[in-house]
Amino acid sequence: MNIEDYKGIAEEGDLRAIRALAGRLAGKKMLHVNSTAEGGGVAELLQRIVPLLKNLGLDVRWEVLKGTRPFFEVTKSIHNSLQGKGVHITRQMWDEYESVNRKNAEAIDLDADCAVIHDPQPALFIEYKKRGTWLWRCHIDISMPDRVTWYFLKNIVEKFDGSIFSVSNFAQTVSIPQFMMQPSIDPLSEKNIELSEEEIARTFEKFKVPMDKPILLQVSRFDPFKDPLGVIDSFRLVRKYHDCRLVLAGGTATDDPEGERVLNEVLEKAGEDPDIHILLVPPFSDRDINALQRGASIVLQKSTKEGFGLVVAESLWKRKPVIGGDAGGIPLQIIEGVTGYLIHSVEGAAYRIRQLLENPDHAKKMGEAAREHIRRNFLITTNIRNYLSIWLALEHKGEKVIYI
Ligand code: UDP
Repeated sequence: MNIEDYKGIAEEGDLRAIRALAGRLAGKKMLHVNSTAEGGGVAELLQRIVPLLKNLGLDVRWEVLKGTRPFFEVTKSIHNSLQGKGVHITRQMWDEYESVNRKNAEAIDLDADCAVIHDPQPALFIEYKKRGTWLWRCHIDISMPDRVTWYFLKNIVEKFDGSIFSVSNFAQTVSIPQFMMQPSIDPLSEKNIELSEEEIARTFEKFKVPMDKPILLQVSRFDPFKDPLGVIDSFRLVRKYHDCRLVLAGGTATDDPEGERVLNEVLEKAGEDPDIHILLVPPFSDRDINALQRGASIVLQKSTKEGFGLVVAESLWKRKPVIGGDAGGIPLQIIEGVTGYLIHSVEGAAYRIRQLLENPDHAKKMGEAAREHIRRNFLITTNIRNYLSIWLALEHKGEKVIYI
């Protein structure tokens, strides 16, 4: 994939800026580090961004921190605590965090002109920085963090040259420069390219989901913050009035040990209901997810806490109105009444689902607005432009004008 392939899809201004910025940075070394190669939005983004940056002439590497089960238990607790779920992180837990970070940092080549460290899991790599511009990229919702956990992390984050948050109200008081930058989707990836009606129908057949009535869909990891149990409750309210199906499709990420427990709760709640389909989708099932999103009538993302919520952008791009929780980056994507609806409760979700099921023409119009909103603001090209601009801005800190 090449940046020129996005001509006619992405904003021309983004493409021009990318060419100019990449010209200035060509040959330089960029390193991305996160904690999972598959599952979840960060891996999804990196799988697409890294090859494109390489094709722009940058020397880019993507490294994945190797954790142990206890380490990921600790980092999930840190994650939950930063997202405001009062979990106390003990001294012993921080020790585990430090030890796995040290082992990984010693094993990975950290030499780069620009290193982007994603989320808290590998944040302590900063202690091993040799040179270059180091950015901490926060993908999670830290608008209301547990103060003690945040205080610990803040001391680490302030050693970076800059920080990037997805949404302005996640930003915290830190002594280093902060940048706002939203994640994005790749319109040319298997997850988002156009599919034929036959392929969509075949996929539903494969998953044994008849397309005989409207289909409500939520695609997410089985995570309490994505509220899959609440989705089932909303569906049950809607079904008193409308015959429809619910599909909950998800997998588990290697850095998320909670998945199995939540999945079991979901299976138990769904019971023997023939209209609720719980699909366990293996990693790298991008075309299948694409087809499910395209075959759905309405997409839900009932998160109570959310980083950005890439699935929302993916669905809006496919002209599906989305009913989503008013959390994290979801309100940036759902313009109330234009591209979908923001909801705060099981009843609220059910009300909006009914409204859209009763007005398919309105839903169709919303779908068109949804696609244009994503095209203008949340495509991979805007993301690449932002990364390169932030890198260059920090390299030239103190200069009044940056020439690109
Ligand atoms: N995803 C997937 N398979 C699944 C569940 C999710 O491919 O079973 C993808 C989904 O399409 C999206 C990403 O994983 O691209 C999830 O990103 P999001 O920001 O919505 O949530 P996160 O998991 O990062 O909290």
